Amino acid sequence: MAMNDSVSWSADLGGGVRVALVQAGTFWSDAGALFGPVPRVMWDRLVVDEITPDHRLGQALNCLLIETSAGRVLVETGIGERMSDKVREMRRYSGDPILPALRMAGFEPTSVDVVAMSHLHFDHAGGLLDGDGRRAFPRAVIVAQRAEWEIALGTNSRLVASYDQPELRLVRDWGAAGWAEGEREILPGVTVLPTGGHSAGHQAVIVRGSGRPVAFFGDLAMRPWSANPRWITAFDDFPLDSVEVKGELFRQAVAEDWTVVLSHEPRTPIGRLVPDRDRFAFEPVRATKD
Ligand SMILES: [Zn+2]
Repeated sequence: MAMNDSVSWSADLGGGVRVALVQAGTFWSDAGALFGPVPRVMWDRLVVDEITPDHRLGQALNCLLIETSAGRVLVETGIGERMSDKVREMRRYSGDPILPALRMAGFEPTSVDVVAMSHLHFDHAGGLLDGDGRRAFPRAVIVAQRAEWEIALGTNSRLVASYDQPELRLVRDWGAAGWAEGEREILPGVTVLPTGGHSAGHQAVIVRGSGRPVAFFGDLAMRPWSANPRWITAFDDFPLDSVEVKGELFRQAVAEDWTVVLSHEPRTPIGRLVPDRDRFAFEPVRATKD
């Protein structure tokens, strides 16, 4: 793989499958919203060294570039580069959007065959178009769940708040050409799995070579504390579904010793899940290159 030193983590899964972490900048969210129903006394100490005086936490935009013998898959596109100065300021977005981040890591956006997104919230689908409104990945098929497109472009004011509808309308036909209805192997070894919970059509991405699989659970596993299935965010549209599906997926991740990549963790995004009483814990692994 033509990756270089700017890639902080990559793994050879065997069978011609490789995965690299590409981070597409950072934005800042209200800490209380990230912890949703969890009382502050329970999470305060976990973020004491990173919370800002105005109670925000930095959110990395973690994307994956998957190389298989049949093609390249990009998982997530980050916030992108099309927001107004006002929105950029509000979200305190900084760093490289997905296109320069990919190039810096050694991948040409034109070489991406499939773009898979866990869901279509602004911080995952924002990079589908470049700054001029052209398709950022001109050869790629876009794979998100049909249910996600439908709810994202729907009319429920609570549900649509996290989607950038004018932007999504620009790419709707592109998205419809590849949307998935249920579980689908998008390239040999790369499977999308509907989960719901965080959003109606949210999906996980599981990557399998000949060795230990890599799992990206999207915003069901944003940060290390997400390993507790009951610790969900205020952004989870269907919270009880999140709790249930997290329990199921995390049990499988433990049983099969999956490597887990967290969607918004800036410092220790790579790790594994281990059982911890009636929940799980996230054990980070040191970022490595191979
Ligand atoms: Zn997100």
